[in-house]
Amino acid sequence: MDQNQQYLRKIYKDMGIEEEVFGFCAQVLYDLKDRFEQVDKVAEAGQLKVLSAMQKNRVGEQHFMTSTGYGYNDDGRDTLEKVYADVFHTEDALVRPHITCGTHALTTALSGNLRPGDELLSPVGLPYDTLQGVIGIRPQKGSLAEYGVKYRQVELLPDGTFDYPAIRAAITDKTRLVTIQRSKGYLPRPTFSVKQIGELIHFIKSIRSDLICMVDNCYGEFVETIEPSDVGADMCVGSLIKNPGGGLASSGGYIVGTKECVENAAYRLTAPGLGKELGANFGVNRSLYQGLFLAPEVTAGALKSAIFAANVYERLGFTCVPDAREDRHDIIQAVILNSAEALKAFCCGIQAAAPVDSYLTPEPWPMPGYDCDVIMAAGAFISGSSIELSADGPLKEPYCAYFQGGLTWHHGKFGIMRSVQELASRGLIKISGIHSK
Ligand SMILES: *Cc1c(COP(=O)(O)O)cnc(C)c1O
Repeated sequence: MDQNQQYLRKIYKDMGIEEEVFGFCAQVLYDLKDRFEQVDKVAEAGQLKVLSAMQKNRVGEQHFMTSTGYGYNDDGRDTLEKVYADVFHTEDALVRPHITCGTHALTTALSGNLRPGDELLSPVGLPYDTLQGVIGIRPQKGSLAEYGVKYRQVELLPDGTFDYPAIRAAITDKTRLVTIQRSKGYLPRPTFSVKQIGELIHFIKSIRSDLICMVDNCYGEFVETIEPSDVGADMCVGSLIKNPGGGLASSGGYIVGTKECVENAAYRLTAPGLGKELGANFGVNRSLYQGLFLAPEVTAGALKSAIFAANVYERLGFTCVPDAREDRHDIIQAVILNSAEALKAFCCGIQAAAPVDSYLTPEPWPMPGYDCDVIMAAGAFISGSSIELSADGPLKEPYCAYFQGGLTWHHGKFGIMRSVQELASRGLIKISGIHSK
């Protein structure tokens, strides 16, 4: 063993990781070299894509200035939007700290582009939990349903693929917008690759070329070399406290797409006729630029952490979704832990590994919208940021932990090791006797 490895072993030991856990994780990691090399190549492509967009738009120090009041002529804000449009290869972009979260970005995109009497179609089954209230699938004051927007949904086939005949049948002359969620979110279905999304959009446009195809891109940005906007999406929408904010954006959301779709969304975010012209940046622009600059690398770190987690936990005998070998299309990793004790231990390990609030113990609590207690682990610089190392899970069968993030790969790695240590220390797993395949 080389000197650095010996030093690492010692420092991990000082941080509470025992020899067996260290050795076991090192073995798992050894087999992941080729996999990580592929992740690095995607990050490299993403880095150059972002750099090129910044250079092309002549980003300069003047763009980091603050603006107040109406925010007229905020060149930093306008240039950032041009950079986003170039990164996603779209005509236009709306990138604002005033967009509260991903749900708000999606709501703005939907309500700006739909009118009373229009139909909204989800060809990929039930959308993300918060969107159900927005659309009115679950009754909610102010929902799109209250404004006369109808909703249709086509379920995925049992194997997680698209039900093309049913999608064709669900498109009427009233259909205006098709919403496609890329990430599985917290549902037991596969996350779609950009290629799959492209095929779906191609099919939809072959039925009616004027339909707006919107992709909920949350957790998917920079995971592949191409984005849904490269394969025909009219709008891609996401949160800045996930992948594209690179961990530095303190809040915000983005909508990239055609000029018309983005303008419609902007008229909804501010006011009809005002649109993108207004909106003071309060001095946060620099963090949005710098976060985007780091985003490909940060996303790669989160991906490596997810891949490492799947490989570690699968070898310990747990089922992981996606599994240890599958291709990745988002940064979420589900680990099925089979017992409340194991789920709690996992979350305690992740919490103990955090740079912030590491001394707290996560406890399950009843959360609105859930029919059981939920446990959450997060110790983040930006409150609620899920590009930072975090985990959560509902306290019910099959006791599944959803794990995501890690601003650096080495932090994500430590988080996983710390969680394994927690399970081992509580006697919930046995490390010895496990050998590299
Ligand atoms: C995170 C997420 C959202 C939006 O969630 P917010 O918490 O409002 O940012 C929407 N869709 C998917 C698939 C997500 O992962």
